Amino acid sequence: MISHVTKFINLNDKEFIIHPQPQQNELLSSWLVRVARANNVATTSFTNMHFKEFQKNILWQRDLDIWCPESLLEKLSHKSHLSKHQIFDMTLKSYEGKLRHKIHGKNRTHFIQSLGNYAHIKRNGGLRFCPLCLANDSIPYFRKEWRLSFYTACLEHKCFLLNRCPNCNSPLTLSKSYQEKDFSFCYKCGIDLKKINIIQEDCELEAIIALMNVLNNGYGNKLGQAVPSIEYFDFLKQINKMIYLWENTREISEQILFSKPIIKNAGYEDFIPIIEQHLLYIASYRLISSHTTFQQFIQTNNILNCHINKDMPVNLD
Ligand SMILES: [Zn+2]
Ligand SMILES: [Zn+2]
Repeated sequence: MISHVTKFINLNDKEFIIHPQPQQNELLSSWLVRVARANNVATTSFTNMHFKEFQKNILWQRDLDIWCPESLLEKLSHKSHLSKHQIFDMTLKSYEGKLRHKIHGKNRTHFIQSLGNYAHIKRNGGLRFCPLCLANDSIPYFRKEWRLSFYTACLEHKCFLLNRCPNCNSPLTLSKSYQEKDFSFCYKCGIDLKKINIIQEDCELEAIIALMNVLNNGYGNKLGQAVPSIEYFDFLKQINKMIYLWENTREISEQILFSKPIIKNAGYEDFIPIIEQHLLYIASYRLISSHTTFQQFIQTNNILNCHINKDMPVNLD
């Protein structure tokens, strides 16, 4: 029985009584919701009582996995007996220096799907999931890589990830729950996300595997040359935008996208259907991998090198 505490008990200086271990590549938000549940308290009541400086549900009104400040990391570490490094490793900031120079959540972070925080409700479907992974987990949990823009399909089950409940179309909001069910049930309509019927389509996984390798190894093959992963991802994003947003690449975008781009701004990745995003990354990955293919592409589409580099970030170190 989960206690929906109405009386506030100050647990600011207390440790967590029960502190379950993080699962492999688990997101901090996923782990913290499980901790609250293991202690038999509703998530928001639990964190309000334990973190005085972040009361009034502040933790859940932000994107905890990107925002998590140093003082909270320290407190979580102290209360859970996990090292600060273990806590930090559950955040998406742990991709800093590999995916982007800085990941702070102050503005949109390339390659991380945004949650679209509206109070503590999430509107954008930035937390995606594989129902088969949740069903196979002995302890269901949400993975870090499910927030990555190019991680469009599950490498294990070869199916596309979902970004909303297929029954009521709500994006997931981990801190909320349907009656007393855990977060493997939709918080809005209560359906079991582990039992969603998924068509295993044998998705093309080459690009996702290669891009995860770049992220994990810290370098990638940009037009035939090994470069640091940040430089690789900056260029990959540029190709991605060229295909999706630029007018003169309409021919290639018409081949891979089902519809004309509706969102014509930098936030397009939050709104395109996951299958189109998947195809966009396959096309972008193939272009970045071969100097010859890339040269043919820019010549065919009358793209000048100065245009490609126009709004590329300048890396200062
Ligand atoms: Zn899976
Ligand atoms: Zn639902």
